[in-house]
Amino acid sequence: MNSDTEVSPGDSSATGGVASAFKVVCRMCHGGCGTIVEMVGGTVSRVFGDKENPINRGALCSKAGVPSIEQLYHPDRLDYPLMRTGERGAGKWRRASWDEALDFIAEKMLAIRDQHGAEGVAFGRGTGVNNTHIVSRLANLFGTPNVTAIAYFCYGPRVAVAKVTASGNYSQRGWDTTPISDVYGKPRCVVQWGSQKRTSNDHGLIGHIPVTDALRENPVNIVVDPRKPNAAGPADIWLPLRPGTDAAMALGWMRVIIDEGLYDKEFVERYCHGFDELAERVKDYPLDKVAEITWCQPEEIARAARTYATTAPGCIIWGNGTDQLGNNTFQATRALLILMGITGNLDVPGGNVFYPAPKLEYPELWDKLSPEQEAKRIGGDRFKALNLTPYAYAHPPSLYHTMITDKPYPVKAYIVTGNNTVTCFPNTGRIIEAMKKLDLLVVMDMFMTPTAELADVVLPAAGNLERDEPRLHLHTKGPQATFMDTVSQKLVEIGERRSDWEFIIGLGRKLGYGEHFPSLEEFAEKSLKPMGTTWDKLKKMDHGIELPVQYRKYEKEGFGTPTGKFEIYSTIMEEWGYDPLPAHVEPAEGPVSTPERFEEYPLILNTGAKQPMFWHSQGRQLKSLRKLNAEPLVEINAKTAEAYGIKKGDYVWIETVRGRLRMRAHLHDQIHEKVVSIPHGWWLPEEPGPDRGVFEVCSNVLVDDDPDNCDVVLGSSPLKGLLCRISKAEAPARTISQRWKEAMAAE
Ligand code: SF4
Repeated sequence: MNSDTEVSPGDSSATGGVASAFKVVCRMCHGGCGTIVEMVGGTVSRVFGDKENPINRGALCSKAGVPSIEQLYHPDRLDYPLMRTGERGAGKWRRASWDEALDFIAEKMLAIRDQHGAEGVAFGRGTGVNNTHIVSRLANLFGTPNVTAIAYFCYGPRVAVAKVTASGNYSQRGWDTTPISDVYGKPRCVVQWGSQKRTSNDHGLIGHIPVTDALRENPVNIVVDPRKPNAAGPADIWLPLRPGTDAAMALGWMRVIIDEGLYDKEFVERYCHGFDELAERVKDYPLDKVAEITWCQPEEIARAARTYATTAPGCIIWGNGTDQLGNNTFQATRALLILMGITGNLDVPGGNVFYPAPKLEYPELWDKLSPEQEAKRIGGDRFKALNLTPYAYAHPPSLYHTMITDKPYPVKAYIVTGNNTVTCFPNTGRIIEAMKKLDLLVVMDMFMTPTAELADVVLPAAGNLERDEPRLHLHTKGPQATFMDTVSQKLVEIGERRSDWEFIIGLGRKLGYGEHFPSLEEFAEKSLKPMGTTWDKLKKMDHGIELPVQYRKYEKEGFGTPTGKFEIYSTIMEEWGYDPLPAHVEPAEGPVSTPERFEEYPLILNTGAKQPMFWHSQGRQLKSLRKLNAEPLVEINAKTAEAYGIKKGDYVWIETVRGRLRMRAHLHDQIHEKVVSIPHGWWLPEEPGPDRGVFEVCSNVLVDDDPDNCDVVLGSSPLKGLLCRISKAEAPARTISQRWKEAMAAE
């Protein structure tokens, strides 16, 4: 426990007269909001927002406060390591010590490496909440290139595109972040393109507060999204485009901007490579064609393009919407980045800015992985951008196929921290099949999830307020748009819960890599050294380290690409064998690619929508959050629903060729009439294992996992733009809400 951050103990104004209070960063999501945690006799009694914290200014979202206490002391939390004693998935376990569990895991890993090679062991990671770079360190030392993460359709595409286009494959310029919308820089035009930070979970309040502030200044507000919640603000222009056609839309904007001479001529002439080739390429995208592809009005497309190009500064708020377009992901994302560049909105106040990356010594040890082993990365030969560090990941759908087929080689072990794999990746049934084929499945989590149910060893993870961790995540902060680092701090110790870092350090030592796995504190100190600070000092800072933003860095430094320019025409893409210019690619499933299927499935399905009260697959156990949303809802345009005889609250079948789900209807008019949207991350902790309701509620039951339909550059899966049909369904005999209430009443 770190008492150095104590808030005037005994000061009733600060603490309410309780024994002690601590300033701690919230870790119920990526976030980093400041909280004050009150404790009585070693027990957390209250969590509330820290008014002095510049990020959240005292506000907390629905996931923090009461839910964070509920999560900490929830009776279903895993407190000890468990080893499987019955059939896989039968729910039979015995308690083990950490030492025994680690010995067992290490022994199995070494046996698999002896028999199948190091690549036969794979690791899995979730979001960056736990900053699990250390997983890659162990994988590299062990010799396996197979580490997976959700990054291939969450944030990773924007980072990879930025590396390829602006900062280069091998750049050391510290630009290897994605250009962030500089909403603190007083944008006069805000474009919310497939990302609605005020309602989605994109770093929660970190997104919500600054975007709200920016919209209060009344910039021109353009929304490019088939779904526009009220929180997106009153839109001056709303382009409800057909999901999966974002590249065509962006190319249509560029056609207007280039034809009408609205681009930034100085930036283009001095800093861009391949503008002439782009001007040729956009000739393929006249407005009438773009309108036909995107299902939007040509006049509105042109108006939006002109407005963005002439209302400087303008920022594009982008997010997972474009990360999850399947075969259109990389090119659509590149098209957006090029739009920012040619309009002069890149790296300027109020535009999209490469915020400074902290100079941290990350512990991956990439040099320990031999080129021969690296070449074996599943999917790396096909989806070349997967090999870019720090996002050097195996392709998840291909890896799960490999676990089933043993092709191109056997993968027999999967060690997962912080990820509920069964719910988070496409084709739920196939993932379960893959997990069942393994010789060793290790899952570290806070609760018994559908993934943990299938494991050989389940390890109890420490959560928010339970782990000291050099959590070096970055946050924007207004009004000068600075970056900061924060740490996760341990105030409470319950059972034998451990942080992911502690697990990997322990496992690394058991595998014989002790010299590379010093204590957590030593790791933290080494990581922070280049920043000129120590972990202890960082923990004592209320708000972390502030890094001043520098604009127009390219004026001094150029870009880190092979040509030294902003590569509209990407020489790296060309070398990899991909189209070096952005282009529209029709979604693999849709009215154009599969017209016969479209006749049977005439609506477009978007999955992957986030909900503010849940962090991906987390939070469904917590009463305080389930009260806000007891079961997933399907969003349908009210007119479309009427045509199908569906009324508000009715149950609806949503079917794709891959399966069907039944959800309650949420009707409104802020969604395209041909588009249906369902939330992601759902499972039902209150239902019995091993499935725990995934085939009733998990959106990934409906999603395609065929690698042929993924993005050709990075392998991103198509969570958006799928074909579906809907029909009114009988209500289930006992609804999910009723079952949830009954389960709670029985507690
Ligand atoms: S947005 Fe995230 S970090 Fe902030 S209060 Fe909510 S859960 Fe905590």
